[in-house]
Amino acid sequence: MHAHQKTIKHTLQIRGKGLHTGQMIDVTIRPLPINSGIWFKRTDCGESAPILASAENVSDTSLATTLGWGRQRLSTLEHFLAALGGLGVNNIMVEVDGPEAPILDGSAMPWVNLLYSAGFQILNAPRPFYRVAKPFKLTDGDKFLAVEPAPEFSVDFTIDFPGFLKTQKRLFKFSESAFVKEISPARTFCLLKDVEQMQSRGKALGGGLDNAVVVCDDGVLNPEGLRFPDECVRHKILDFIGDLSLAQAPILGHFTAYKTGHALNQKVLAELLSLPGYLEKSEAKGEAARQPRNFEIPLKAQLGPLALGPEGKPFNPVFAN
Ligand SMILES: [Zn+2]
Repeated sequence: MHAHQKTIKHTLQIRGKGLHTGQMIDVTIRPLPINSGIWFKRTDCGESAPILASAENVSDTSLATTLGWGRQRLSTLEHFLAALGGLGVNNIMVEVDGPEAPILDGSAMPWVNLLYSAGFQILNAPRPFYRVAKPFKLTDGDKFLAVEPAPEFSVDFTIDFPGFLKTQKRLFKFSESAFVKEISPARTFCLLKDVEQMQSRGKALGGGLDNAVVVCDDGVLNPEGLRFPDECVRHKILDFIGDLSLAQAPILGHFTAYKTGHALNQKVLAELLSLPGYLEKSEAKGEAARQPRNFEIPLKAQLGPLALGPEGKPFNPVFAN
């Protein structure tokens, strides 16, 4: 686990296509001081309030993780959040000029490379963390997510699909290098029949073989094939790391995930954070500042315009594993 708080050395910029809207989206990532947290700000909505990347600000989990505050929405953040969690970057401001983060190649690798390109500033403050104090499990139909006490973060993930994907199971024990090499390159995936259905309804307009693995009955449509034989379960671990990053501190415990997605991941996280006795937080030091010090949140900006998707309808993400 990363012992110290971290930010980036320089401001970064990246431009890429949004998975749902197909629009080109610009992202600017700026360093913030200790105890700030990870903040997102929409720059295409006039005077927009920033959104803290926290579990209580999750507004939608229908296949992508969406943050919402007031009437602002920002979607498809989990791959970027996974990169931040994997590299231990916990103090930044991210400005996005659209309703979703760019999908890039569908994995966290471009975000990892971007963050490394800035270099990191190790901050003189311990990074807070949670320790799992007693086991917890939540079941939803045939899916479940369980956690038990352990000295480090680990997850044993299983997916089970009919046809080509079959059952894939992988144990990931956290280290930055294991995250970068084994998990961050794994791309999002979807079934061909789901893509056709979504695009006929005007969804996933930016989706394609350059940003997702498309699975058909006997293989994948992508001409370059898979990056790993078990790329799909690796991507589910990537999404899981992104989802858990909304705890705002690493959770030291062993998770067992069976067929879970963003919705169950966020439900378990919300319960762990709210029910007494499951998580113990490390000693907080200098935690007075819960917001970035270099800006104030204008309350009136929370009533900004609702983010609109194609055809002027409220943006409702349906795609992205
Ligand atoms: Zn994903």
